[in-house]
Amino acid sequence: MTPQYVGRFAPTPSGPLHLGSLLTAVASWLDARAHHGSWLLRIDDLDTPRVEPEAEPAILATLESHGLAWDGPVHRQSHQLQRHHGAIRQLGERCFACGCTRRELRGLDRYPGTCRDRGLPRDGNALRVRAEAAAPAFVDRVQGDVNMSNRTLSDFIVQRRDGYASYPLAVVVDDLALGVNNVVRGADLLENTAEQLLLMRWLDVPPPTYAHVPVVVEASGVKLSKHNRATAIDNRWAPHNLATVLSLLGLEAPLDQVETMLAWAVGEWNIARVPRGTSLAGFSALAR
Ligand code: GLU
Repeated sequence: MTPQYVGRFAPTPSGPLHLGSLLTAVASWLDARAHHGSWLLRIDDLDTPRVEPEAEPAILATLESHGLAWDGPVHRQSHQLQRHHGAIRQLGERCFACGCTRRELRGLDRYPGTCRDRGLPRDGNALRVRAEAAAPAFVDRVQGDVNMSNRTLSDFIVQRRDGYASYPLAVVVDDLALGVNNVVRGADLLENTAEQLLLMRWLDVPPPTYAHVPVVVEASGVKLSKHNRATAIDNRWAPHNLATVLSLLGLEAPLDQVETMLAWAVGEWNIARVPRGTSLAGFSALAR
């Protein structure tokens, strides 16, 4: 018997949702509902310098006003610190302490192995994992065969200097803890997937299936992101926003109440209609 589909949306609370993050939320919600699966919400709040206190309530309000109901409580990465550290311990001798500063590594396209054999103390330093492996290939439900095997991964960080787990480590551990077996997320994370697949191999964790949906870029080609202050979603225009996002996902929905539009879209959902490719150009603002 195939296991029950468990999907999730995992925003970083660094700002309100914009068109691109709403598209990811809608795609993962539709895919979960079309598979009669559950859809969990996890707030990825470990990147403490980027977390903005007002972002989380704004994200929840946008999901609610667009009819994107989640199952169960809101989960938080910051509630899983023990699990993260347990996984880091499990990686054992693969990890080494690294004292390099960002500035020292600036301009390098890969970590040169500076601290690999220095035997630095773990306290007060970041921990990197000896990667030195080809990026694992995988089949993506939107992007098809993803083969980055010409890239040898460089030693990446699993624990930051401040003691928190790094993004790739935390996501692997948290998805496992939540039973997530289907990940639908933005194609800007494709490269991280290689690191996450390696971590799963080492931690003996079964990988989920992946679908990386294109990220929305401005006409200039710049990715919409919270970082560059992309226009926040205006919840008063929820049906219009939903129509815009659905159309980018290959579905021309008649304008109606959001619940009706979503119910229609679940019936019509076909991930093969989502444009392949890592970006969708041309939307600098929301349709009005
Ligand atoms: N928190 C990440 C972000 O907002 C997404 C994590 C994931 O989907 O794996 O970009």
